[in-house]
Amino acid sequence: MNCPYCGHSDSKVIDSRDVNEGIRRRRQCLQCKSRFTTYERIQPASLFVIKKDERREEFDREKVLTGIRKACEKRPLPDGTVEKLTDEIEAELYQMGRTEIPSAVIGDMVLGRLKRLDHIAYIRFASVYREFDGITSLKEEVDILANHPVIPSTDQLPLIPEEQLGDMVRIKQRHQQ
Ligand SMILES: [Zn+2]
Repeated sequence: MNCPYCGHSDSKVIDSRDVNEGIRRRRQCLQCKSRFTTYERIQPASLFVIKKDERREEFDREKVLTGIRKACEKRPLPDGTVEKLTDEIEAELYQMGRTEIPSAVIGDMVLGRLKRLDHIAYIRFASVYREFDGITSLKEEVDILANHPVIPSTDQLPLIPEEQLGDMVRIKQRHQQ
């Protein structure tokens, strides 16, 4: 558990208490002395993903990571973005407290985050996952995105780099010509 302020890997527990079905721990970084909170939960013995054809397979974090990594390849995203997204999705899945999750739910979670982060990565992921049936449905999706530029929000991942915003503006302009 790295310090969210300086990244240092060691912290001490100042306080811990039971909350719902987990434990809340107040920690202090041993390096920068910042305080932060962690929540521990019991992880279900196993989480199964229900695939489109109804088959079940055990949830595999690596698969999510690989899918997101491919979509984000060569995009100007901050280091660690792919891992952070995967962590968030994994945590959210386990927080649902279910033992089975349809693969579509996971796909939508990835898409929702990529959409707010990077439209190119989003389209790449969607084109694999949604299996666009042709260029027309792909264009429709791009048109929607072009009219809804990424709005960096502070509670999400780091802000979109300048050059990427430039890309998106250019895509939009080209589309409008
Ligand atoms: Zn620190």
